[in-house]
Amino acid sequence: MIFLGVCGWPVAHSRSPQMQNAALAAAGLAGWRYLRLPLPPGLFEETVRALPAAGFRGVNVTIPHKRAALAVADRASEAARAIGAANTITFENGAIVADNTDAPGLLAALPESPRGRTALVLGAGGAGRAAAWALTTAGAQVAIWNRTAERARALAAELGARAVEVAEPAQIIVNCTSVGLHDAAATFKALPLQADDLSAGSLVVDMVYRAGSTQLLEVARSRGARVVDGLEILVAQGAASFERWTGLEAPREAMRAAAATIANT
Ligand code: NAP
Repeated sequence: MIFLGVCGWPVAHSRSPQMQNAALAAAGLAGWRYLRLPLPPGLFEETVRALPAAGFRGVNVTIPHKRAALAVADRASEAARAIGAANTITFENGAIVADNTDAPGLLAALPESPRGRTALVLGAGGAGRAAAWALTTAGAQVAIWNRTAERARALAAELGARAVEVAEPAQIIVNCTSVGLHDAAATFKALPLQADDLSAGSLVVDMVYRAGSTQLLEVARSRGARVVDGLEILVAQGAASFERWTGLEAPREAMRAAAATIANT
């Protein structure tokens, strides 16, 4: 048996086990299993170091371990190093290799290249860092807003992007805050956006995923904007991790179907 998994604390909410096990089944990898691994912060490093001997090929890493995953690695991709966090670990010939598939996942989920477009990233936490790096690297002109303005300024300075304290018009708007996750009605109160900022020319991305849709995406759709929902990004980052571990093309339809089923329960 070959094992994969997701390490987090808490990790009960993660949809990755269902999504990745559906992918393994669809790819015919009968001897592989993807497990949920609840890991308190103090146990992260020693557990990760012990996983290869227990039959693990790799793991996803989620809150609060993404920075620790980079620190424990022997090698890291450019994305993981630039973002300062890793969401994917691969055990490769005795080495721990760290990747960040959140960034390519976001780009893969966009309907077209963001090169030359203006982009507004809302949030400067883990998802905001990955999105701002991905969009900047892909050639967009990125502005970053964050509730705690100092974090936006620090991230913008690191990436050569601009920090803004009020939202400004942009062709691509990416919500990387957790606003809308628990209280859909909070969206336009907590974010520096008005419904009028969303128009037919906008592409609106919401990293948040919840049953049904989010208020941000519902309003964007009603204004004629194109939208990308958080589930699509979840699938895209998961597909990139799957391909990294197995060397096979990820069965995205099976992953999308599994993730959507869970989202609707
Ligand atoms: P994080 O590192 O904890 O960052 C949270 C961000 O949300 C910070 O920018 C924080 O601003 C902001 N925020 C929280 N409450 C707010 C409020 N009431 N008003 C305005 N801003 C607020 O979390 P993360 O890892 O970046 O994740 C952010 C969201 O993206 C989560 O909902 C997560 O589930 C989702 N996500 C989705 C995917 C996917 O695959 N679809 C991947 C990663 C994350 P401050 O700095 O001011 O606290």
